[in-house]
Amino acid sequence: MPQSRLQPNLDPHALARELSGKLLIGGALRPAASGRTFPVENPATGEAIGAAAEGGAADVDLAVAAAAEAQKGWAKLASRERGRLVAECGRALNDHIEELGRLVALETGKALRTESRVEASVVADLFTYYGGLGSELKGETVPFRPDMLTMTIREPIGVVGAIIPWNVPIMLMAMKIAPALVAGNAVIVKAAEEAPLAALRACQIMNQVLPPGLFNLLTGDGPACGGPLVAHKGVGKVTFTGSVETGKIIYRTAAEKLIPVTLELGGKSPMIVMADADLDKAVAGAVTGMRFTRQGQSCTAASRIFVQEAAHDAFVDMLKAKVDAMKMGDPLDEATDIGAIISRPQYDKVMSYIRMGEETPGMRALRCSALPQDGKLKRGLFVQPVLFTGARNDSRIAREEIFGPVTCIIKFRDYEEAIRQANDSDYGLAATIWTRDLKTALDASHRLEAGFVQVNQNLVVQSNLSYGGVKNSGLGKEASLESMLEHFTHKKTIIINMG
Ligand code: ADP
Repeated sequence: MPQSRLQPNLDPHALARELSGKLLIGGALRPAASGRTFPVENPATGEAIGAAAEGGAADVDLAVAAAAEAQKGWAKLASRERGRLVAECGRALNDHIEELGRLVALETGKALRTESRVEASVVADLFTYYGGLGSELKGETVPFRPDMLTMTIREPIGVVGAIIPWNVPIMLMAMKIAPALVAGNAVIVKAAEEAPLAALRACQIMNQVLPPGLFNLLTGDGPACGGPLVAHKGVGKVTFTGSVETGKIIYRTAAEKLIPVTLELGGKSPMIVMADADLDKAVAGAVTGMRFTRQGQSCTAASRIFVQEAAHDAFVDMLKAKVDAMKMGDPLDEATDIGAIISRPQYDKVMSYIRMGEETPGMRALRCSALPQDGKLKRGLFVQPVLFTGARNDSRIAREEIFGPVTCIIKFRDYEEAIRQANDSDYGLAATIWTRDLKTALDASHRLEAGFVQVNQNLVVQSNLSYGGVKNSGLGKEASLESMLEHFTHKKTIIINMG
């Protein structure tokens, strides 16, 4: 079994410099055709840590040619052999968890202990999980006529374009690459401008195991690099995670070519806390659900928390105390729970929503935790988590995705009112309900308009569970066997007439 030849580099600064200015095309690290780069910054300090290659249409052409060539041989392999190689990538990535976690922490500002290291281990797990699914690419036999054998088979689509955001860059990349590869496709990833280096490193690690060109990584501007990738005639499927606006642009371009898309977009996920809930568990669930450890930068963030009157005040006090106890600081420090916001524009956006909330009559902002005092972090993009009480579900704060550590706590009287308000949203990604009453739990599970409903818990993405939203939250599912079958293959019907 081939061993990972790259040695983990636990100095993320050195690694960021080493990876600077490179794309991965056809199995080789190379500069962009334009020769241009753009800086990558550490959000916790504002310092440049390296540079990313500014890929564009010429690089997309090269990557599509390399991918199309590699895909031909890959699709001919037995599907279990493809799975074996993808599982081997999982093992190689597993050897680099600490290294990848540190690089993610450096470029995204997410704390190593609570977020970035966890993300790197989920990446390895996704490859391991999908690696075992090679032989599950099954078709069906269909009863038709005794002298005809009628069946369906699953065929790869060809070259898949995968466009990823910055909030969980390597995990969201793995959720797209691993099933696409096992299904027999080649992949071209376009990484986010803000977090390109860990994604490049993960691809470099996989490159030791997989044939050159089978997956390629581009970095660059959204419209200038992602745009030509979506529009390229050699790309037969696009899978995207990001904003609703960009998702719609991609959908329109894909419509011109009539190719399938998977879109994982935003959310404004409700969490309903009934008065009979176990409040300790619900408060812990709100901390996880709101992803305070990720500065709230999550599509599934529990950013609308509906609490029944009788439990409201206790819930607010308990949640405030819990978030107050979280430590904001250097993402690479093991003591840190909460790191920095990804970029200056995102920081300004979050702050403007906080100001908007503070100026709204009836709303009260409870600022939690404390900004770091360390001098080297004074230019860092740190935002104190904010709990807004007295919020209304029809306010902009409760309707628009903030993608920051800001949640609304909305008091309600009866269950029907909570369900109605929870569903009164443009989004429908995730939802949770907290109650000891089984009937209420089951009723809410059916009625909540979301792709992912949980009762008395708030788990993050799991490799084997389908994940994806309804309404403006997107189209199609990720993770699970279903996503590999439904979103990375074509189904072909074959009839053999033996009459
Ligand atoms: P965010 O606002 O969170 O950065 P975006 O949806 O703009 O979310 O970005 C998510 C990903 O989509 C990034 O990799 C970005 O470069 C890419 N992107 C942005 N605009 C386009 C576009 N017009 N076509 C293709 N990809 C794009």
